[in-house]
Amino acid sequence: KSKAKAYTTDKPSTTFADIAGYEGVKQEITEVVDFLRMPERFKEIGARVPKGMLLVGPPGTGKTLFARAVAGEAGVGFLSVTGSDFMEMFVGVGASRVRDLFQQARRMGRAIIFIDEIDSIGRKRGAGLGGGHDEREQTLNQLLAEMDGFEASEGIVIMAATNRPDILDPALLRPGRFDRQIVVPLPESDERKAILKVHSRDKRMGADVDMETMAKATVGMAGADLANLVNEAALVAVRRGSQEIERIDFENARDRVVLGAQRESVIMS
Ligand code: ATP
Repeated sequence: KSKAKAYTTDKPSTTFADIAGYEGVKQEITEVVDFLRMPERFKEIGARVPKGMLLVGPPGTGKTLFARAVAGEAGVGFLSVTGSDFMEMFVGVGASRVRDLFQQARRMGRAIIFIDEIDSIGRKRGAGLGGGHDEREQTLNQLLAEMDGFEASEGIVIMAATNRPDILDPALLRPGRFDRQIVVPLPESDERKAILKVHSRDKRMGADVDMETMAKATVGMAGADLANLVNEAALVAVRRGSQEIERIDFENARDRVVLGAQRESVIMS
């Protein structure tokens, strides 16, 4: 298992059109897209483009989606890995996986490296009870070394996601590393409406479904919850023997989704 690749690679077809709302985030991120499209231009003029960008926000707000959309919009490769996938029982494996990851990115030319849940390897070093965690620290050190070891002009940008920027090792946030933070918060009512619409595009909706009302009734839900809600509503409609998704299906689905979330938080706490 320790020889297995820890990451996946592809060339996403995701674009900003797949992401509802978050206009401010899109604007900030467009700079990276422009850079990946023509790194020479930035290099010629001497502009320093961030090597690393941290997406900060609660689970399910579309951080992965944003990273994929950057790759999709720029037409570059996408390498994705979850922080905890670096961790193994055997010391040194995490570090060699980090090396692997960057080697692969270089082979792809221009690419986005996406590290989800970076806090699992990026927590402050030496803060653990009962001494440092050797494997984790080696992995983090290797990541820092790799980030220092390439020129931004090579056309590789590292995006990482976390909902705990406060516990990250300060070394990760220094200039030339993840020196740019973009907050991806829970969606506002208007954005929830837009997200519900995006996910209803290819579904048969009854005339009595009002997305405005649904948006108001889903305070606190992230994009992932809303996508899930639309799908649950479709399932409920089928079970009811209906030809289309109606308001009642959304209401039943919402109760299921909300109760499910509560059950989860009871288990977790
Ligand atoms: P996590 O931190 O838990 O990995 P995340 O922030 O990376 O979550 P994503 O995995 O990108 O969230 O989002 C999950 C799914 O939620 C997406 O694949 C998409 O279907 C839906 N989604 C989230 N935000 C949006 C949005 N703004 N517009 C449309 N769909 C969205």
